[in-house]
Amino acid sequence: MRRKLVAGNWKMNGSLAANALLLTEIESGLKSNMSSATCDVAVCVPAPYFAQCQGLLNGSAITLGAQDVSAHEAGAYTGEVSTSMLQEFECRYVIVGHSERRAYFAESNELIAQKTVRALQAGLTPIVCVGETLAQREAGQTDSVVAEQLNVVLAAIAVSDLAKIVVAYEPVWAIGTGKTATPAMAQEVHAMLRKQLQVKNAEAAAQVRILYGGSMKPDNAKELLAMSDIDGGLIGGAALKSVDFLAIIQAA
Ligand code: 13P
Repeated sequence: MRRKLVAGNWKMNGSLAANALLLTEIESGLKSNMSSATCDVAVCVPAPYFAQCQGLLNGSAITLGAQDVSAHEAGAYTGEVSTSMLQEFECRYVIVGHSERRAYFAESNELIAQKTVRALQAGLTPIVCVGETLAQREAGQTDSVVAEQLNVVLAAIAVSDLAKIVVAYEPVWAIGTGKTATPAMAQEVHAMLRKQLQVKNAEAAAQVRILYGGSMKPDNAKELLAMSDIDGGLIGGAALKSVDFLAIIQAA
């Protein structure tokens, strides 16, 4: 049985004051509902706030994560943040290949595969994002686009590392739009991704958590998370409101 993971992706949001308030509220919410927090919880925060959030999460059940990482180890790469820097602040998860990185920063499947490999080498858990645009879905290309995105990553990693990754299916048309894939639509893609993982190694594939992301909210989380291959959520907007994030955690 896979333990569910609810991860917040704060994107480029937050401030010292807002982060402190948000994390304090989530912490106290989790403490008062301890029995219902049966899933893993993470927050992927902007890099300048690693130190602050590490301090705020000291002794907490919430794990820290990053939103991106360099494919390089160290050196002359202006603006980049390395895996060892993430580790110094106890980040355990790192999102790679988010559709916003793909679309606005021209990240290719190959670069995303390199980042995944780098994260695994450092002992971090990469959350590898895949997802189709609206045009691709309407053209009937969802399966081929998503399969190709995952395939390039799978080809780059060792079989022994397969169980260490998390995959996130985030249809681009559902991100920040209020439009969610129906549970059946999401399950169909998740099942296909699981099959693809099985080709590499069946035993490991059964352990890989496949998260859904794209306008997951308190009112749709339960239905989505009830599907057999949906093992958690990658939450954008709703992760910035403690009440909503807590409600999704409870649904998981
Ligand atoms: P929203 O939940 O705001 O749609 O964002 C989803 C997302 O991109 C998480 O990575």
